[in-house]
Amino acid sequence: MVTKKQRRNKGKEAAAPSPESVKREKEKARELKDTDWWRNQLARGECYYCGQTFDKKDLSMDHIVPLSRGGKSTKGNVAAACKPCNNDKKYYTAAELILKNQMNSKIDF
Ligand SMILES: [Zn+2]
Repeated sequence: MVTKKQRRNKGKEAAAPSPESVKREKEKARELKDTDWWRNQLARGECYYCGQTFDKKDLSMDHIVPLSRGGKSTKGNVAAACKPCNNDKKYYTAAELILKNQMNSKIDF
């Protein structure tokens, strides 16, 4: 569900997030982890990035657009990621990861 407030904020997401908003999104991520929706994601056991199946203890919540890049803790922006993918990803966005893999080299932004 999209609230009126979220709709109004659309288009502002590219701006660098303030430390307060990152803190707020981290708080929201913690709340999201406590939902049935998230438990279902873990129960499926599939890593969003490599598509392999893992034990839920080996999966963690990952922001598709990192919080440090203005991403939000919404169902559309969080995914279950295995440890190798999570470690490899760091602060890259999904699009940047595809680019990185295609070029098969390290890119610094
Ligand atoms: Zn993975």
